[in-house]
Amino acid sequence: MDQLLPSCLQSKGINLHSSYNRREGGAGPAEGITIVVNGRPISVPTTGTTIASSPYSLHNVDGNHVIFNNGSPIKEVTLPPSPRYYSLKTARGVEYRKIALLHGSRCLASTVLQQCTYWHSPERCTFCGIELSLQSHATSTQKTPEELAEVAKAASQLDGISHVTLTTGTQADASFELEYLAACSALIKAETNLPIHVQCMPPRHVRSLELLKESGVDTIGIHIECFDQKILKKAAPCKARIDLKHYITVWSECIRLFGFNQVSSFLIAGLGEKNRATIDGASLLCELGVYPFIVPLRPIPGTLLERHAPPDTDHIIPLYQEVASLLKAAGLSWKNSKAGCVRCGACSGLPDFEHG
Ligand code: SF4
Repeated sequence: MDQLLPSCLQSKGINLHSSYNRREGGAGPAEGITIVVNGRPISVPTTGTTIASSPYSLHNVDGNHVIFNNGSPIKEVTLPPSPRYYSLKTARGVEYRKIALLHGSRCLASTVLQQCTYWHSPERCTFCGIELSLQSHATSTQKTPEELAEVAKAASQLDGISHVTLTTGTQADASFELEYLAACSALIKAETNLPIHVQCMPPRHVRSLELLKESGVDTIGIHIECFDQKILKKAAPCKARIDLKHYITVWSECIRLFGFNQVSSFLIAGLGEKNRATIDGASLLCELGVYPFIVPLRPIPGTLLERHAPPDTDHIIPLYQEVASLLKAAGLSWKNSKAGCVRCGACSGLPDFEHG
């Protein structure tokens, strides 16, 4: 049961007692709460149209955090403490938490450019909430390398963060996007020496990825999101336009630059795709040395998929089991990833099946 609990929580979500805070909007685990179950941080949805029907709820019982299932206590858990760096501001008065957030329990994450060229177009990804946190003033449009390095240094010293994730909205000028990620990475690395993960669209010219390597990036995510082409066209039209052969070229170049197990691709479960397509795609990724990071759909309020439900456990658990076998056969593991979403693992149940 313990092995399945994180997946069940991510499929159903959890109702919070009124004493808990919520965060809404964003590009990553945008709304929700991080709960530590058996020492592993799990990001669990707390808002959305399906949460009210979830049997799970979180209560504070005599100072302890306890998960209830249909009104009965089933598991005592912990919550990561609010990071100390959240109380700080830059010299210009920008709150540190508007520059980068704690994800999981040890990962500092920032969307360095919070706008996407596809946001106001029909090609916008249906699951993405990148500009929602701008609308709610929870973050700023652009984080400077100096701000990011300052926050990373403080978060490392005050809160023991051990790796950094930098993502970005897709920019009309792809060279600018990569150069900006590189500039941010170089300064963070110079100031903290922390392992850094970046995420970006597959660049047209693979040689441009060398810039990221030279700037100190350790791991990279090039996310295809879905291997079912019909579903991808509906869910992420801007990604479906890119030929699979080009993704493979980019993943291969990333493996050459960053190494085996240091490259990943998100595969979202619950978009309407067949599990077979995801498993075949995951198999292809494993052959290349790329980690297929299976994540359940997170229907963030305000996104085009806000009324969808996350995948049921009957759908996602067999997927985790099959992909975990592929990972094992290929010698890939979240434990060997140096930084980023795979290293953190909080948005997926897959790590629970890798060694089960
Ligand atoms: S390309 Fe898609 S996933 Fe990426 S920021 Fe734009 S809308 Fe979001």
